Amino acid sequence: MITALAGGVGAAKLLVGLARIVDPKDLTVIVNTGDDIVLHGLHVSPDVDIAAYSLAGIVDEEKGWGIRGDTFHCLESLNRYTGSEWFNLGDKDLATHIFRTDLLKKGYTLTEVTQKVCAALGVGVTILPMTDAKFETRIVTKQGTMHFEEYMVKRGAKDEVLGVEFFGAENAEPSEGVIAAIENAERVVICPSNPVVSIGTILSVKGIREALKRTKAPKVGVSPIIAGAPIKGPADKLLRGLGHEVSSFGVAELYADFLDTFIIDVADSSGKQRIEALGLNVVVTNTLMRSLEDKVQLAKSVLKNNFVGSGAFLYSLRHGL
Ligand code: GDP
Repeated sequence: MITALAGGVGAAKLLVGLARIVDPKDLTVIVNTGDDIVLHGLHVSPDVDIAAYSLAGIVDEEKGWGIRGDTFHCLESLNRYTGSEWFNLGDKDLATHIFRTDLLKKGYTLTEVTQKVCAALGVGVTILPMTDAKFETRIVTKQGTMHFEEYMVKRGAKDEVLGVEFFGAENAEPSEGVIAAIENAERVVICPSNPVVSIGTILSVKGIREALKRTKAPKVGVSPIIAGAPIKGPADKLLRGLGHEVSSFGVAELYADFLDTFIIDVADSSGKQRIEALGLNVVVTNTLMRSLEDKVQLAKSVLKNNFVGSGAFLYSLRHGL
């Protein structure tokens, strides 16, 4: 089994590549839920949905969220009442949130609901929300402490970041199957995701970091920072705000206590030795995923490098790496 830790858009691209070369039933994804938010009484789970929609082949790749070709009639009508909608929810996307909220109210866990969503969308990969507990990533700014989505979407990530809080982290247990998925993995992949509010959030859940240190599986990460900048999103602002270097080295430092191999982009090859000095193997390759071929190629690198797994695992790779 391959187990991946994932946030949103960068992870979703790599997961699509991985699902092409690994039998989906041998792929488990632990997804950040710190961005989850209740809007109009509906539980929205942005990273879980990006992963599910991407693996189902229905994601709107241009936007990086939502369902391709979705309409926004409901949102337009809501705007007539409130005049203040800041979080875009497409009509088909809303169906997911209505379904999820209804089942959560009936007592199902987020993990169980996610299983049902995946089954209905034909996703064979196992998607595990990092926790079923209430958990919220909050950004501390001069304007106050706010939900990550408020910082990111409502205010356009323009506020200086003074800190990040993981509300609920003390009590949040990993959801069922998360620790086992790490412990029993033949390889753990840290996707190219925001190192602070996606991977950092997952790492803040009780026991996950320890399980990563404990597992015998090789742990391979991909840098979300290329040539000193993120491809999308506010990773630079968050890294800087917390006093980290905005570079693949800065990300490597955050993972160095549990990671074995870090994959960085060719644009950052000059930083290889510095990262090696952290005790990591470093692989330099193209990490920018524009096409399906890019996604598959990077997925192959992630599975190939520093390979110490079993023959049985190799056998499970569909296209004979
Ligand atoms: P966000 O920062 O809140 O949007 O968090 P996400 O977990 O969605 O992560 C976005 C990260 O994915 C950003 O830091 C991007 O640089 C990274 N990313 C997006 N596309 C790619 C890609 O094609 N290659 C790599 N290496 N990183 C990517």
